[in-house]
Order: sequence, then C-alpha cells, then structure tokens
Amino acid sequence: MDAGVLGAGRLVPAAQADVGTVREEHRRRRLRRLAVVLGTVLAVLVARAAAGRPVRLGRPAIDLPPGAADYLPGVVLVLMLGLVLVVPLLAAGRSPHTQLQPSEIGVRFDDVVGLGVVRDEVVRTLNLFLAYRTFRERMGGTPRRAILFEGPPGTGKTHMAKAMAAEAGVPFLFVSASAFQSMYYGQTNRKIRAFFRALRTAARREGGAIGFIEEIDAIAGARRGMRASPGVEEPPERRHRADVRDGVPGVVNELLVQMQSFDEPTAGRRLHGWLVDRVNRFLPAHRHLRKRPPVPANILVIGATNRAADLDPALLRPGRFDRSLHFDLPNRAGRREILDYYLARKAHVPELDKEERRDQLAAMTMGYSPVMIEHLLDEALVWALRDGRDAMDWGDVQQAKLTEEIGLAQPVEYTPEERRIIATHEAGHAVVAWLVAGSRQLEVLSIVKRRDALGLLAHSDTEERFTRTRSELLAAIQISFGGMTAEELFFGEAGTGPGSDLAAATRLACQMVGAFGMAGTLVSFEAAGAGPFDAGLVTRVLADDSGRREVERILERAKHDVRVLLDQHRHLVEALRDALLTHDELIGDEILEVLHAAGATAVGGERPGPAAGG
Ligand code: ADP
Repeated sequence: MDAGVLGAGRLVPAAQADVGTVREEHRRRRLRRLAVVLGTVLAVLVARAAAGRPVRLGRPAIDLPPGAADYLPGVVLVLMLGLVLVVPLLAAGRSPHTQLQPSEIGVRFDDVVGLGVVRDEVVRTLNLFLAYRTFRERMGGTPRRAILFEGPPGTGKTHMAKAMAAEAGVPFLFVSASAFQSMYYGQTNRKIRAFFRALRTAARREGGAIGFIEEIDAIAGARRGMRASPGVEEPPERRHRADVRDGVPGVVNELLVQMQSFDEPTAGRRLHGWLVDRVNRFLPAHRHLRKRPPVPANILVIGATNRAADLDPALLRPGRFDRSLHFDLPNRAGRREILDYYLARKAHVPELDKEERRDQLAAMTMGYSPVMIEHLLDEALVWALRDGRDAMDWGDVQQAKLTEEIGLAQPVEYTPEERRIIATHEAGHAVVAWLVAGSRQLEVLSIVKRRDALGLLAHSDTEERFTRTRSELLAAIQISFGGMTAEELFFGEAGTGPGSDLAAATRLACQMVGAFGMAGTLVSFEAAGAGPFDAGLVTRVLADDSGRREVERILERAKHDVRVLLDQHRHLVEALRDALLTHDELIGDEILEVLHAAGATAVGGERPGPAAGG
C-alpha cells in the first residue's frame, strides 16, 4: 500500500488497505486449513474402505456395568449442582461486549453529519488504522492504539465509532464501562482481560477491530492515591462535585496493562515458542531454531466520556489514549446539516424545504445535540399523526419544541378572570420583546399550562450568538418586566404571576453588575466564586450595599421604561391578548400577523431600540 495515503484527507477504501490485505491472507489460510482437515478425513475414509473396514455411521453402544443405572440419578444430580455453582462464576468473568460485524452496522461516514473538523481527524485516524502495516514496517511508526471521544451525550460519539468500523470493514466491539463492574472479587479485571482478548482475536481474524468503551470514566476515573500527594490541590470543580467517580486502582492498572497487550503472541505462537525453547535446549547455539516473532493485532480502542478531565492521567499518556477528539454541540452550520439529513428521511410539507425555514430551524435549535434534533423531528411527526396528517409542518415542529423544552400541555381550566390576566401578562412580554429586541424572533406565545408555566413567550436569536451587548441584556430585563407591567396597566395591580420573571431579571442585573462590569463597578464578584455564573454570584452582589443599589437602579429603570412603552402601545397588548383568548396559542408568524393587523409597523422598521436603562 502507498504510504502517501496516510496523509490524505480522504478515506482509503478498506479493501485496498493493509486491513483488506491481511483479511484476504487470513481467508486463504482458513481455506488451506479446511482443505487439510477435510483431506485428512477423506484419506482415512478411503484407506479404511480399501482395507475392507469401511466406517459405519450409527450410535455408539455404551455398555453400562450391571447396577450402574441405579447410581445414574445421583451422578446427574451432582453434575447439575456442580454446573449451577460453576456456570455463574464462569459467566461472571466473560466479556460483556456486543460484537457487530461491519455488514450489521447501518451507519457510514455519510450518515454522521455536522461534525466539521472532527470528521477530518477521524478520517486521518482511520487511514492510519487501515494502513497500519505500511506505517509500522515501512515507516517505522507505532500505530495509534487508542483515542478518546469526549463530549456531551448525544453528540455522535458512538455513531461515529460505528461508522468507522463499517468504513474500515472490521468488527465493532461495543461495551459500556459499567458492564465491567462485578460483585465478585477480581471479576472486573477478568472481564476487562476477556474484552481485550476478544478484541485481539477479532482483530487477528479480520485484519483489525475497533473496540468502543462507553462512559469510560465509570472505571477509569483518577485514582484517589494519585491526587492525594501533598501540596497538590484538587481543582475546585472536582472537589465540589459529588458525582465524580474515583477509579479503582486495580482496574485502571488492568486497563493500562491491556492497552499494551496488542503485541501479545497468540496461544498457537506461544505453544510454538515453548516447543522451540525445549528443542533448542538439545541443540548447539549455531543450530538453534528461530522463534516466530508475534504479529501485533491491529486494534483501535475508542473511549467515550463526557468528563475527560476526570480520567486518570496515566491513561492519557502517549501510547494510551493520547489523542482526544472533542464532540461539541453542533454550531449553526452543523445543525443545518443535521436538519437537512434528517428532514430528507422524514415526511414533511414542502414549506419545510424553504431555505429560510431551514435556517430558522437551525437558529432555534441552538444548544441542541444531534440526537435532540432527531428527536425533535420525530416528536413533530407524532404531532402531525395526532392531527391525522402524515407529514409534519412548521406548527408541528414548534409544538414539538415546546413539548421537548417545557413539557406537555396540561388541560387545566382557568377562571375567566385568570385567563384574561394570563393572556394580558403574556401579551405584555411579547409586545415588549417585539419593541425592544429587534434581533430576536418570536416563536410561541401561549396561555396553555405546561409544567410550572401558566403561559409563555418563547423567543430566540435570529443569528448564532456567543456574546451579548449591554443593550441586549437590558432588553432581556425589560422583556421580563413586560408581563408585570401589563398586568398593572390593565388591572391596576400585578398578581403572583411575575415571580419568576423578577427572579430572571434580578439574576441578569446581578450579572451585569457583578460579572460584566456593566454598571457601577468594575470589580468582579465572580472572581471569588467557584466558576462562571455560580449561584453564589447573586448572593454576593446583593449582600454588597452598592451592588444591591446598582441592581435596584437597573430594575427600577427598566420597569419605568417598559411602562412608558406599553402605555404607548396598549393597542398591541390588547390585540395579542384577544388573539390569545381566542386561540390559546400563537405560533411564529401568527404573532407578527396579529401585531401588524393591530397597526404595528413592519419588523425591523420603526421598532424602537431598548431604552437606555442602567
Ligand atoms: P453519544 O455516543 O455521543 O452519546 P450517539 O452516537 O449514541 O451519542 O448518538 C445518538 C443518536 O443521535 C445516533 O444514534 C444518531 O441517530 C444521532 N446522531 C448523533 N450524532 C449524529 C450526527 N453527527 N449525525 C447524524 N446523526 C447523529
């Protein structure tokens, strides 16, 4: 195989790589062995027939001594008891993996989308795996034994590993790290050894094998002894977390040993080596027989975790999991690719093929992992089915998103007065959002109860954003006040509804003061905390007199500005309130249609910017 392919950005076809060559060699060797065995049997049969003693097929006759039949039940009972005791012990030490042949894996690289540079690195790693002989023998390199896939759940780590095995045409041995754990002493290590043995066997037979250990941190967490060295303080994020699992020293050691086991000789080679040693004892040095060197098994172990920082450092050294690939939540372009991929496979109305709809979907699924996007579209199909349709539309996707993020609608009966207050409250939020937050898209406005929310306004960024300006934070605080202020304007007083809005506004104002240096002080109250935006920030800012004054100033000012705005746009609040009372829920463009019909100017037209609070 050409060594140039190792640097190629595309995948080398498995059949042309070393893996394919080795598999073909093994296939031929198996055929040769079969021919030898069958040939021998045939030769014996022919020889006996020629000698006039042909082999006759039939049941062998067993002549039991007289009286032996009386002991038979007792013997059977003892044998069964023995089995009952021995079988669980043997089973407890078996490898708990599931093995898939490449033909059983329905995932290829084209099915893993939206991963960007991670995919390129995976292709490079796989090329190295496929060309392992060239790399080892012609170039003198040591092939990569293991890589770590790190990232939140549902980001495609298992999916990608399966695709790698399918593309390479090698078996895939999947195991969840927690399945190694056993209640019997020493069995965990036995199971790990059995897993690696199965990997070596599969790799030798098929030219390579990919092992996947899910949640590897469950058994390979940093060993306590390693962190207890005096003077080395644990990082605070580890110290404060109750869910950090400590590795069991013996288990981590076993993993380390097994990672070096790929060069171990097979049983056949060991026997051959042993025989050669015995024979060599009788031979002079210059006539010694040569031992055959062990052939390393071509194995790639992939460890998946969402907490690489918790792993034992010894596992991350060169020759072990020395390369780590980060599977992040997809960015907007990635989400678009994933949406395109799944929408191509799920029934939908032509409207969802429009560029702007797809872009909108990609924008509103910010923070979603690929599996969440897949699930969202499945949920949308369920909504369509419930409605007697066989293809999802935009409304179904919106409903599905609400169900996923907030929960199912709960059929509760509000009193007419309560309904009116809730509708006014939500309309207040929406009107303020429309007026002060030009970059936000109003998605859903609802007075249907879901989990703790009596009603809601869902809005999202129209663009993928990683930072916020001061005006945007102020606008968010103002949106929070929209509900309370509308209640006051229309009913003379506010009820208990705005409680959570006030909490959200207070948190934001505290961050402006204590973390972002946006109001009053440049001192960061966050510096004394355990991490960004920890819960203690609010307490620290509010405990400080000047901090609290600043927060109150921001909130008062925002509320005042919102009151002025809503007073000027009462007609918009009334229009949305009435629409909500009639329809219960308005989705996307329906909100804008009501606003426009009520005389609001076009979106982005004369929307006033956020009032200059603070
Ligand atoms: P992880 O192992 O990271 O927890 P999985 O690989 O098990 O996540 O992903 C779960 C499911 O999500 C997959 O079976 C697949 O259907 C879908 N999925 C995840 N990532 C992708 C992706 N990049 N492209 C397409 N589908 C994906």
